[in-house]
Amino acid sequence: MAVRKKKKVAKTSSTKKKVAKKKVAKKKVAKKKVAKKKVAKKKVAKKKVAKKKVAKKAVKKKVQIAKKVIKKANSDKALFDTMLELTRVTSAEIPDDVQKVVLKALAREEKNTTAEYAMNIIQANIVLAKKKSQPICQDTGTIHIFVEHPVGLDQTKFRKITEKAIVKATQVGYLRQNSVDSLTGKNEGINIGPGHPDLHFKENPKRKSVKISMMLKGGGCENVGAQYSLPNTELGAGRDLDGVRKVILDAVQKAQGKGCGPGVLGICIGGDRGSGYKYSKEQLLRMLDDTNPHPDLKKLEKDIVETSNKLGIGPMGFGGKTTLLGCKIGVLNRLPASFFVSISYMCWAYRRKGIELSNKMEIKNWIY
Ligand code: SF4
Repeated sequence: MAVRKKKKVAKTSSTKKKVAKKKVAKKKVAKKKVAKKKVAKKKVAKKKVAKKKVAKKAVKKKVQIAKKVIKKANSDKALFDTMLELTRVTSAEIPDDVQKVVLKALAREEKNTTAEYAMNIIQANIVLAKKKSQPICQDTGTIHIFVEHPVGLDQTKFRKITEKAIVKATQVGYLRQNSVDSLTGKNEGINIGPGHPDLHFKENPKRKSVKISMMLKGGGCENVGAQYSLPNTELGAGRDLDGVRKVILDAVQKAQGKGCGPGVLGICIGGDRGSGYKYSKEQLLRMLDDTNPHPDLKKLEKDIVETSNKLGIGPMGFGGKTTLLGCKIGVLNRLPASFFVSISYMCWAYRRKGIELSNKMEIKNWIY
């Protein structure tokens, strides 16, 4: 009986142990489950944070792109406004250095002469055009634009915006509709077309800002431009500075009564036929009171103006003391076989203005 009792007690204790073990195992499993759940939760949370980060980045990128688009649109608009304003001022206002020389010429002419009358009309025209912000002359002329810029300027975009500004300037009356198809003579009324405006770009890595010079050069004065090939036996002009002088004075004689004088000469010695004419026009971007750094050319410039003013041609060819307001001479290399002298004649309506741009493509300052 005692044995049976012992056996029963032993059996009960073993069962209890088994139950306890099972409980421990269950607890372990439960713990594991909880741990697993925690890990899963953490993973989900991490994923959520990562997703949020990606979304934030995407928004930031979108904002950056939008800002860039706005900045680009703003600078495009600024450049358009700048070119429109440059065109308006160039068309309506004579630069100060030219104005000064015109006034000097007016004072020099004898009283009550046709020359004085002509100079008075010119001066009155200049004052009125500026006051009313209207074109100085009905002849818009060729629109020459010279752009000197640092590395990186988008020239194609610059050209497109400039053309748009020219069209607008024509529509609002800053420029007369003056550019026609050379074969048909058709005038589109917008002042743009092949070769017009005459736009030149020059990249200069040393420049920090864009510089733009605009010049409106009338057709009448362009017609009396000339190009000589030296030697010229007819004029007895050899391949030296005396020969150059002879052909320049010949051109002045031939221009009398034409070209709306008094004029200013832009001259290139050397180059070929194309580069010579282009460089002669670039001489017209110089200030009238500047000094040629080459002593012989400085002397020649002065001599040409003084000699021409003694020819008695005068304003509009009416006689008088003012045939030329200035003369600017530059030199290009040439080939041994050729010696060109290219002469560009600018009329009294000497419209040239220049600006420097800010980084935002707005006008930072006026050069002239
Ligand atoms: S040449 Fe000069 S002044 Fe004469 S019509 Fe043309 S732009 Fe006017």
